[in-house]
Amino acid sequence: MGLTAKDRQQLQELGKELRKITGGSQREDGTPKTFDELERDAIEVADLIGAAILEAGVRDAEACEACHCPKCGAMAPRRQEPEPRVLQTSRGEVSWFEYEYFCRKCRRAFFPSDQ
Ligand SMILES: [Zn+2]
Repeated sequence: MGLTAKDRQQLQELGKELRKITGGSQREDGTPKTFDELERDAIEVADLIGAAILEAGVRDAEACEACHCPKCGAMAPRRQEPEPRVLQTSRGEVSWFEYEYFCRKCRRAFFPSDQ
């Protein structure tokens, strides 16, 4: 992904907004946070946002009626109901529902997001 200068500017503005949620640069008692505390706040927020972006990405993936088998390329039909999926990522746990596909030729089930 290539972020444009405008994208970066928007993300920096968003970062300033998010700082308000973490209480800014002061502790509850009004004393200033250390750099270490500010860094921990930033990492916690970044991880939560990263996981939310991942989750939204997999939820938005379109479920077609049939998908190409990643092994043989044959069309594999979609199964009836979407399956619950949970994945531990470097940004935290991500959960979503996704249709599984089954290739009759390979006798193999797969999720498109795993390929
Ligand atoms: Zn196949």
